[in-house]
Formats: sequence, structure tokens, C-alpha cells
Amino acid sequence: MTFVLPRTAKQSQYTGLPEDVRARLHERLKMVVPADPAETRLDSSQPSGLPDGPEVQAGKAIVQMVNVDKTYPNGSKALDRVSLTINQGDFLFVTGPSGSGKSTLLKLLYGYERPSDGELLVDNEPIASLKGNRLAMMRRRIGVVFQDYKLIPRRTVSENVAFVLWAQGFTRKEIHRRLWPTLKMVGLQGKAQCFPDELSGGEQQRVSIARAVVNTPPLLLADEPTGNLDVDNSMQVIKILKKLNSIGITVVVTTHDEHLVRMSNHPVVQLKHGRLRYLKR
Ligand code: ADP
Repeated sequence: MTFVLPRTAKQSQYTGLPEDVRARLHERLKMVVPADPAETRLDSSQPSGLPDGPEVQAGKAIVQMVNVDKTYPNGSKALDRVSLTINQGDFLFVTGPSGSGKSTLLKLLYGYERPSDGELLVDNEPIASLKGNRLAMMRRRIGVVFQDYKLIPRRTVSENVAFVLWAQGFTRKEIHRRLWPTLKMVGLQGKAQCFPDELSGGEQQRVSIARAVVNTPPLLLADEPTGNLDVDNSMQVIKILKKLNSIGITVVVTTHDEHLVRMSNHPVVQLKHGRLRYLKR
């Protein structure tokens, strides 16, 4: 088993973040347990409850796709010559009707599916050709959120979130240091001991976001994260994703919700029959 050394405050210099944000993040590193664990509202006073953010080099590509095709073994063509560059620190919406290729695009980015043709680099790695341990290491640098949450039913909220860190060899101390700020960031520290079936859909989705970002990956992929949620919960989820983006996490969100996209001031690409075009840059 390969163990990953946890990042320390010293290692993460929050490169590229404004001075005041860096100072506040640094302050967060001192926090281990919230003063009032019963508090469950979203903590909007901070850019993020995470102990640290990834290093960001503005203008440096984190995703590069050139003429990528994806045809499934049954002959179904999901992506058709898709070219897309996403830079570190971007927040991108991918929209399009059901069946247009949105999930396939994300599956290629986290290495669940392979492209049939074309070039694909994620975080400078040709993810399409990675296998075994190298693919597993690469996936650790990508957080993924799904429409149906995919939480472990017989594990509490904190166990669901901590499990990722435990599996990656983080020390108990580091797990503790990361867990509470992350739960606080999604407004769930008061639900830490609940099981998934004791939570609302919105709360379950917030647990899945916490799980996806507790190890501060540089890239977060969210596949229809608001697909099962009402308007208020959807807005809350988007607010959290924006907060994560503000500390330097690159965020790619798929949605078929026109309303969400219209309200956003972020770039939007649209997929239609597997072809991609920019709706808003
Ligand atoms: P979206 O996320 O926009 O709904 P998908 O990426 O799931 O679109 O699907 C794009 C196309 O690829 C659809 O025609 C779908 O039927 C097909 N497809 C998706 N996954 C598979 C698969 N595992 N095997 C065969 N065809 C698939």
C-alpha cells in the first residue's frame, strides 16, 4: 500500500491567492474542533472551511482535450471531436440535454472511461493511458461528486468523509485537522454522527462534496450535483462549489438546469449530440 504524506501548512503556500484570503486560511489551520459542534448553518464568513487550498498557477491548463472522441462498445457515439482547455482556478459549467455526453466527458476526466481517439491531459498527466497505481494516484487529485451522492449507508457522516483520508494514509491527527473544518464548510458539523438515511437529499449531497474535497484536490468534478435537489438546496450546493473555487480548486459542473446556468457569471459550454461549443466565455 502506498502512503501519501499529508500536506503541511508550510508546503502549501496558497500560491496565487490574495493576501487576506491566505491569512484567513492560515488562521483556519489552527482550528481542530469547532467551538459549537451543534452549529449547522453554512459558514459563509470564510472563503472555505478547508484547512488549505491547492496551489494555483493562473493561466496554466489543468484539463486539455484535443479532438477527443468517445464511442462505447455498443457503437453509441457520446463525444465527437471535443476540444476543451480548462485552466487552474476556473469554474466551468457543462450543460446540454440528457444523453448529450456530459457524464461521459467527466468520466474521461477522472479516468473511468478511455477516449476512443484524441488527446487528453488532466493535471499534466495523459490520464487516458494511466493504469493501476498511477491511475489511482492521479484520481486522488480529482474530487468527484455524483447526482446520487454514493455515500456508504452504514457509516456516519464523519466516517464517510474521513474514510477517504484514512484510505490515503493520512495520520489520525491530520484526519482530525481536516474533518471538522470541512464539515463546517458544508454546514454539517452538527450532523457528524448521523447516518446518510437520517439526512435530507441536500445534506447528503453536502456530505458527498465534503468527501470529495477533504483532501483538497486541485480539480473537482460534479456530475449533475443538483439533479435531485430543489431550488434552495441547489443554490446552496452551487454556493459551496463557488466557495471551493475561491480557494483555488478548479471546478467543473455538469447540469441540464438552464436556470442555474443563466444565473451564473461563469463560463458555460454546451454539449449536443457529443459536440461541444461555448455558450459563454
Ligand atoms: P448525459 O450525461 O449528457 O446524459 P451520457 O454521457 O450519459 O450523457 O451519454 C451520452 C451517450 O452515450 C448517450 O447516447 C448514452 O446512451 C451513451 N452511453 C453512455 N454510457 C454508455 C455506456 N456505458 N455504454 C453505452 N452507451 C453509453
